[in-house]
This record gives sequence, structure tokens and C-alpha cells, in this order.
Amino acid sequence: MAIKISEISALIKEQIKKYSQDLETKSIGKVIKVGDGIALIYGLDDAMYGELLDFGNDVYGMTLNLEKDNVGAIIFGDSDKVKEGDLVKCTKRILEVPVGDALLGRVVNPLGQALDGLGEVKTSTYRPIEKKATGVMARKSVNTPLQTGLKVIDALVPIGRGQRELIIGDRQTGKTAIALDTIINQKGKGVICIYVAIGQKESTVSSIVETLKRFDCMSYSIVVSASASNAAPLLYLAPYAGVTMAEEFMFAGKDVLIVYDDLSKHAVSYRELSLLLKRPPGREAYPGDVFYLHSRLLERAAKLSDDLGGGSITALPIIETQAGDISSYIPTNVISITDGQIFLQSDLFYSGVRPAINAGLSVSRVGGSAQIKAIKKVSGTLRLDLASYRELEAFTQFGSDLDAMTKMKLERGKRTIEVLKQGLHELDDVVDQVIILYALTHGALDDINVEDISSFEKELRNYTATNELGQEIRKIIEETHDLPKDNQIDELLKNFKEER
Ligand code: ATP
Ligand code: MG
Repeated sequence: MAIKISEISALIKEQIKKYSQDLETKSIGKVIKVGDGIALIYGLDDAMYGELLDFGNDVYGMTLNLEKDNVGAIIFGDSDKVKEGDLVKCTKRILEVPVGDALLGRVVNPLGQALDGLGEVKTSTYRPIEKKATGVMARKSVNTPLQTGLKVIDALVPIGRGQRELIIGDRQTGKTAIALDTIINQKGKGVICIYVAIGQKESTVSSIVETLKRFDCMSYSIVVSASASNAAPLLYLAPYAGVTMAEEFMFAGKDVLIVYDDLSKHAVSYRELSLLLKRPPGREAYPGDVFYLHSRLLERAAKLSDDLGGGSITALPIIETQAGDISSYIPTNVISITDGQIFLQSDLFYSGVRPAINAGLSVSRVGGSAQIKAIKKVSGTLRLDLASYRELEAFTQFGSDLDAMTKMKLERGKRTIEVLKQGLHELDDVVDQVIILYALTHGALDDINVEDISSFEKELRNYTATNELGQEIRKIIEETHDLPKDNQIDELLKNFKEER
């Protein structure tokens, strides 16, 4: 049967049409080198920064280096399955993590996969892990306190919702304890808490989860963990995954607290990745953009304007120092990005002053405007009292004769330090804080022995809770956020001391 030429060409045209429809539009590359969780890929001309890459066999990665003729990528999960010569596909998607209510109460890795054995996290909502931080016009200044339950912080370095406050100190100085206490203290306050563990031992993370469970905090918390045994890519990803989960809640008008424990290890994992990607090493061998690594993360903490629902993300990054040196590279970077720092000191910690906060070096630049009036009024002179005590303390070690004024200051200082001590997970609500700080700054503790201060405080707390006047004071402070008008606290203290 003869076929006309025109028919053949029509057929071919048809085929060509179909063929181009089947063609994959994603760009494809080839693995040139792979190792240590890093792949060097030839091709992928269309790749975007931070794009999710498909290595096949259920292995995924993310682009980090876009060069003229190759792409550097980090691999998540089983990088042993990737071999030289393998094909890699662009997915045209920025790496995403699951977000939403389904994550509450869960322990997950930075990809949102369960680590707690409670089964898959069931959510259909995802968000890209890299996002431009909220702009100035969409923000509002901090106006609501985020109470930690620790007097020394709530009185001296108050934190507001939407603030970034750095917790910095040497090893084993109680950094994690402060962050955990803050999470515990959010119970019943409508704040969602996200704890991001970066490069910690698995046993440490599991004891943190145990503590959160013991204090019944998991229902409003998420733990994101990339432990020390994970490869650097997961550690790098962890804080971004955490803040992405936080953003979902913030844009729904909720308040979120996020802890990054700690960003020193995060910087180290990024240095490792960068060196493997053959980026030029800079100061302390960190890559040139290590500042941007943390600034773009911490800028995502915000207090949104009312138009956007008024939600917030409060960030508590943690940095570990070596021998108290806060002037080295990564600490100074993060200090400059945050709104203040809580500086913990080993010698204070070992001398029993816990939380071991150095009040002189700790600041909070914005939290004061979120503090309630009552706390502001009773803590006005605290910082000065402490500073002059520290000064005199050093001076009086020479054992010279002291005048009455100096003696008074020393005694007040000793009591101030005693009142600001708090045991692990022993938190005070704001009313109890106001009453004891009122007592301290109005001289009501001057005739109490320093050793008895802690039991005095406990008894006073019980007395206030069970006493009629105490309950009235509590109500006034809770409702007006201010001190009661007519010396009611003085009366309460007088009655209590008489009955004691
Ligand atoms: P690392 O550098 O290892 O991460 P860290 O600075 O996070 O340490 P924590 O783990 O919080 O320190 O605390 C160190 C130890 O001190 C823990 O055993 C903890 O229980 C104890 N500790 C912390 N804060 C207090 C406190 N206020 N009162 C009593 N013990 C405390
Ligand atoms: Mg710790």
C-alpha cells in the first residue's frame, strides 16, 4: 500500500509533537564527586539556591553552591546510596518541611520525620525553609512580656514577645536549664515552644524531652533534633526547619518561643560543609558568609503588626564560649544580631549563684518596654544594688573598718543575690516575684539572716496564697499589672513577719 509523502510527514510531525510533551522539563545533572554528605554535580544549569534535588532511591539533597560549571549540594539521609555518575534532578522546589498542629508534642528531625517512635507526622502543610524575614512595615514593637519565671531575668533582663535574647556562657553553666525553665514557665500562657537541639548527644536530648514530659509541656512544644551523630547537612538545616515551623504559628496569630541550642555547633557544622564544598576559608576557617548564616535566621523572629494577626516569634539562641571569652568571632557576631544577651559565668555557677547570670554584662535592649509596671517599679534599683555590692565586696576583702552606709549596702547586696537565686525548674510567677522583690527593695529583708532568706521566701509565698489580703493583692497585680495603691504589700509583709 502506497503512502503519500504528505501523510508520512504528518505522522512524523505528530510524533515530534508527542515527544516534546513527554520530555522532562526539569534540568538534569551528573554527580562528579560524592563524600561526607556532599555532592559535586555537573550540569543543573537551572538550579536555584536552596533547591531540593532528587538523587533517586529516595535520597534528597539541597543546593548550597552555585558555580559556573558545577553545583555543590548537601545530601540528607543515606548518602552512601549516591555514586559518581548518578543522575540528579532539579525539582523546582525550595526545600520544605512539614508544619502545623500535627507537630505539637512531637520529636522530629530537621526534615520533619518522627524520632519519637509515635509514627509518621501527619500533615499536608509544608513551608519552604528559607524565607525572607518579615519587613519593617509588617512589624510592631515588642509590648507583651515573655516571662521566664526566673526573677533575675524577668527583673533585670526582661524578654518581650518577638525579641531575640542570646544566652551565652561556658560549658555547663546552666544555659540549657534557663531555656528549659522558660519553656516550662509558658504552660497555660498560650505560647507554643520549639526546642531545636543542634549537635547535642542523643542522651542529652532525650533527657530534655523527659523533663518536658515530666512538667507536662509537650502538648504545646515541638523538639527538633539533629544530634552529634547526624551528618553536618542535617545540623545545618535544623534551626531553619525550627523557625519555619514557628512561622506557620506566628502567621496564624500565635506567639511562639524558639530555642536554638546551640548556634556555636551550628556554625561549626556550616564551616565543615563550606570547607568540604571548597569555599575559601576566612577568619577561624569559617566561610565569609557565616554572619549571614545567623542573621537571616534570627531576623525571622518578629512581633507582627495587628493587621497581620499580631503573632510573634521570640528567639533564644544559645552560644557556648571558651573561658568566658565573649569577644571571639561567632559570639560577637551573634551578640550583634540579637537584642541583648544573658551572660552566664562559671565562677558564679560554682559558688552557688544559680542561675549564674552576670548582671553587669547582661542586657536586654527592648524587653523593658514589655515589662509590667509592677515589676518595673520593684526592680528599678536592683541592678545598681548588685553593681555596688560587687564593687564593695572586692574592696572589703582587705578587712578594713566599714562605715554604716557601706555595711548597709553590703548586707542589701548579699540579700539581693540570695533572692535572685533559684533552683532548677523552681519557677516563680510574676506576682510572687513582685512581692519578694518589693520586700527586698523596701528593706523588709534587712533584718532576716541571709541563710534564712530562701525559707522566708517560701513561707511568704504560701502565706500570700492562703491569706485574704494576699489574694486581694494578687488580683490587683494580675488585673492592673501595677502595684496596689495603698501600702497593701507593706501590710501583708508586716502581718506575715508578726505571725512568723
Ligand atoms: P552544656 O554546655 O553542657 O550544654 P549548659 O550550659 O547547657 O551545659 P546545663 O546543662 O543547663 O548547662 O546545666 C548544667 C548542670 O547544672 C546540670 O546538671 C543542671 O541540672 C545544673 N543546673 C543548671 N541550672 C541550675 C540551677 N538553677 N540550680 C541547680 N542546678 C542547676
Ligand atoms: Mg546545654
